[in-house]
Amino acid sequence: MTDADLGRPSVVLTGRFEKDHERRYAHVPFEVPSRLRQLHLRYSYSDQIDSDPTITGGNTLDIGLFDERGTAEGSPGFRGWSGSNKMELTIDEVWATPPYRRGKIGAGTWNVLLGPYKVGSRGCDWKVEIWFDPGLRSPWKMTGGIARRVDPDPFPDARPGWLRGDLHCHSLYSDGDAWPPEVLGAAAEAGLDFLGVTDHNNVAHQLAYGPGGDGLPLVVPGIEVTTYGGHWNAWGTDRWWEFREPEAKAVERAMRTAAESGAVVSICHPKPFGPPWEYDVPPVHGIEVWNSDWVKLNSVSLAFWRECLRRGRRVAALGGSDTHYLHRRDPDPRHSQRLGTPTTWLRADRAVESILTSLREGRAFVSESARGPQLYLDRDPARTGWIAVEVRDGAGATLQLVGPEGTIAAAAVDAAAWDRTFAVPAHAPYVVAQLASPTGELRAIANPIWAEQL
Ligand SMILES: [Zn+2]
Repeated sequence: MTDADLGRPSVVLTGRFEKDHERRYAHVPFEVPSRLRQLHLRYSYSDQIDSDPTITGGNTLDIGLFDERGTAEGSPGFRGWSGSNKMELTIDEVWATPPYRRGKIGAGTWNVLLGPYKVGSRGCDWKVEIWFDPGLRSPWKMTGGIARRVDPDPFPDARPGWLRGDLHCHSLYSDGDAWPPEVLGAAAEAGLDFLGVTDHNNVAHQLAYGPGGDGLPLVVPGIEVTTYGGHWNAWGTDRWWEFREPEAKAVERAMRTAAESGAVVSICHPKPFGPPWEYDVPPVHGIEVWNSDWVKLNSVSLAFWRECLRRGRRVAALGGSDTHYLHRRDPDPRHSQRLGTPTTWLRADRAVESILTSLREGRAFVSESARGPQLYLDRDPARTGWIAVEVRDGAGATLQLVGPEGTIAAAAVDAAAWDRTFAVPAHAPYVVAQLASPTGELRAIANPIWAEQL
């Protein structure tokens, strides 16, 4: 679309961020008159570079929008946040550019939210142009449901009462490239029973997904709270959580409030280029120890989790594919393109509440895919102080039992159906089980059994 199509903007806002504004959100107010049906917004800035954290030397400016209901934490006036990946957006009464929320264009003071994620040495000159009632039609069309492939190779059975799912994915409602129904269809093809839907700093995607079920994976409504010092996932919540203040105190408070409201809260990808986690570890239910393919530096996340356990923190190891693209031909090497890589397996009923409880209690193991090795760790009902390990489809891997001081026992898994019991050293406060390939990559990891459970 060209300027000629739109005519002159109704409002032009300009300003400049210096280096010391980096990672500090600013709210820029503008007045909206009554009886509007549509707003269109376009922005631009100097020395623009990609948001990829490995690229520096220029500017990356994130954008979001609040309506006349205000900018307070949790405000219903939050109309959306699109990071730096959309340079223009429309909000109409009956449609909006994802991830923005359509609806009434109320008169009063609105605010553009600007986040200078990166500011280069020459500063960042920015311009926001806004058109009132430009009369645009929705360019967004569903491409129709994706064809359902009948998989000729059925997925191996899990133990009765166990479900497999993916806890972390993105759609067009943040920086992914597929509509929520397409993502859900792809999750069904990947053999998943549930899908945690976690677009960045938005919840509008949850409505677009619907509840799932009925032949599709169950939708676990979530959000990836995306701050400038790290990301955290919340599942079982239908509201947005504060992301604008990248100070440890503010982040911890938001995580605590989310958990108290009933959400399951987990730190995402604490590893280089995750981006990493720059805060302490507030009380959380989980840590995403496995994000995308194992080889993408997840050993750093695993070490982060192990350190938490050693300090006596009872926090679950969880996995998420962080899938962004179902269509793109030149995939971003930072992200998995495969839902279910890895897969998180939960002992839960086929209901969202039960899935949330299971996540909270860490009744989970993570495996390389929905066809990957299954790793069940239980107390041995026959002998106090012993554990029982069952491995399915893990032949060729090595089972390792790990406590706070390192490996307790190891055994070669030499059959598709394999089980064994092990004595746990009396002084070990917990035991974790993991399966490693001959080249040392993790193929599955099970959450700890604690001493008092034995
Ligand atoms: Zn993230």
